[in-house]
Formats: sequence, structure tokens, C-alpha cells
Amino acid sequence: MEKTMMALVAYGPRDYRYEPFPCPALGEGDILLKVKGCGICAGDIKELAGLPDTWGTGKGDMLMEPPEIPGHEFCGEIVGMAPDVTGYALGDLLVAEQIVPCGRCEDCRRGEYWMCSEMQLFGLKNIAHGGFAEYVKIPAAAIKHKLPKGFTTEQGALVEPYACGMHAAERAAVRHTDVVAVGGLGAIGCAITNVVRLSLPKLIIGIDSNEHRLELAKAFGAEVLLDPARCDVAEEIHRLTGGRGCDVYIEASGHPSSAMQGLRSLKNHGRFVQFGQYPTDVTANWNLIGDGKELTIVGSHLSAHCYAPVIRGIESGLLRTEGLISHTFKLQDWEEGFAYPKKDPAAMKIMLVP
Ligand SMILES: [Zn+2]
Ligand SMILES: [Zn+2]
Repeated sequence: MEKTMMALVAYGPRDYRYEPFPCPALGEGDILLKVKGCGICAGDIKELAGLPDTWGTGKGDMLMEPPEIPGHEFCGEIVGMAPDVTGYALGDLLVAEQIVPCGRCEDCRRGEYWMCSEMQLFGLKNIAHGGFAEYVKIPAAAIKHKLPKGFTTEQGALVEPYACGMHAAERAAVRHTDVVAVGGLGAIGCAITNVVRLSLPKLIIGIDSNEHRLELAKAFGAEVLLDPARCDVAEEIHRLTGGRGCDVYIEASGHPSSAMQGLRSLKNHGRFVQFGQYPTDVTANWNLIGDGKELTIVGSHLSAHCYAPVIRGIESGLLRTEGLISHTFKLQDWEEGFAYPKKDPAAMKIMLVP
């Protein structure tokens, strides 16, 4: 008889069910993890609500393959391996990058695996069911990273979001003379702030309308804190920079108003990094980009080559994790966990534990 496990299964927008699901069977090169914890991404919450980027517009553009187990911010312990797997041992703590590259497409062949056009992603595609389950199969093609002994479950679950934040910071190409503004100080905004701090810029400005987040961001390196509910952020940034504006604005809030706020805050020749995921299309004054300030706009997608440095950074203490996961819920209480950030202003990232 087929073995089953308990999992959170996505069938459609607002149709997720905690129910028995077949235990993953291992093929060549596969590894089986017992999930220790899996963080809830802001993207997971938007997907539950019906994000069109995930569920499509009814024209054959659906990214999700239901029934699918969501969750990509997981870490777990190896409890099974196909006989041909080498280099890993039962009991090893492991994380896997969200994208499972095909290795064949043009992007993969250029070495840009995180842009793989096959888009096999944990939590979205059936070849890679996600971490909101008792067990997760790590397919042979997944990019795996062992965690050092002593890593906590929280730290393990933070590797994926931290790596995304590191990539966003890398895309900003921060110089020591830069004034850097980070819009949105959730777990990833704080991670971005921490990574930016390591490049010793002139000033880091943290922006959020949540007092708890502003306070927490100080520990990650934000030196000036601005609340868009209390001030005009762009005006304030111009005041702080002698009327020039900031050199870099990293958008990590996913709030549509942050786009214009960033464009207004930047100086001539400033750099705008888009990391946050907007729930809807965004309107902005594009003239500011060209005719106005000759800005550079760059995007940031996933976490190119950032897992290993994040793991080293957490291990060495250069990357702080304290406070980023604020609450833990049992997987069966997933609904409460998904809804919690809206209820408690002190909530940061929520982790589900099977
Ligand atoms: Zn995520
Ligand atoms: Zn590919």
C-alpha cells in the first residue's frame, strides 16, 4: 500500500487543504528530507489569495501545477537517498535552491541557472513539491547545500529568503560612497540591509510603516528610519542628501506606492532595484527614468549563487538572523499562520513546522 504523509496541498486560489498526500518515491539521484521547518513567503500568501502570476489568467499561462504542495523556504534532515547518491549522509541537514534548473536551456547553458526558462520551482511544479509537508523529495537536478552542524531550524529556513535578499543587494552594486535606501523591512528587507551594510556604504536608510520593523532593522544596519505614513519619504531623503537624492533604492516591500517613492527618492543616475512582488500592475511616471534622471532600473530574481555565501555569513555571524522568524505554527494550523502577519504588527516571517 502507498505510504502517505500529511501536507498542505494547493488546488486553486483560496483552495488549500491540509490532507494526506502520497509520500514521495525516490528515483535515481533523489534525496528524501524530513522537513524541520518551512517559512511562509509573502509570495505564498499572495498565491493563496490568487496571484495571477501564479494561477494565470485562464489563457494557458498558469505557473502552478495543482495539486501542488507549496513552500520553498524549507530545511530538513536527510532520511532517505537513492542508492546512487554520493556525498551525503543520513542525518545531514540540507536546503535546496527554489529553482531546479533543467541544465539544457539557453539560460542554463550560459551558466545563468537561476533564470532557467523551464521554471521548475519548489512549491509550484509537481517535479518539486514544496516544504509544507512532512517530507520533501529533493530531485537529482536540484541544487543542494548542506548546512553546518549547529544551524537552527530557523536559520535553515532563512537561507532561501536571505539568499534572495543577497542577490538583490548584489544587483544594486553598492559603492562605499552610496546612500542606499531599502523600501520595505520585512525579513528580506532586513536581510538586504544586512548584506548592504557589509559593503560599508555612506548611509543606509530603512523605510517601512511598521514600527516594529523599523526598530528591528536598526540591528541589521539601517541608520536612518523613515515611515511613509509619517513623512514624505522622497522629500526626506532629498533633505538628508543635500537635495541630491539617494544613489540606490532597493524596492523590497511589494507595495505599489513604493515604486514611485523610489523613483522620486533617487538622484540623477541613481539605481533602482526591483525585488518586491507586487500583487497588481503598478503605475509610475516613467519620464523620471529617462528624460528626468537617466536612472538605471534593474530587476532581481531568485538567488543567483547566493546560498553558499549566505550559509557562510550566518555561520560566521556576519549575517544576523535573530528576529526574522517571529512566530512558529504547526503545519496543521497553516491557516492561522498564513493569516497571522495581518493580525500582529510585531509579526515578521512565520514558519510552519510539520
Ligand atoms: Zn520566497
Ligand atoms: Zn534551464
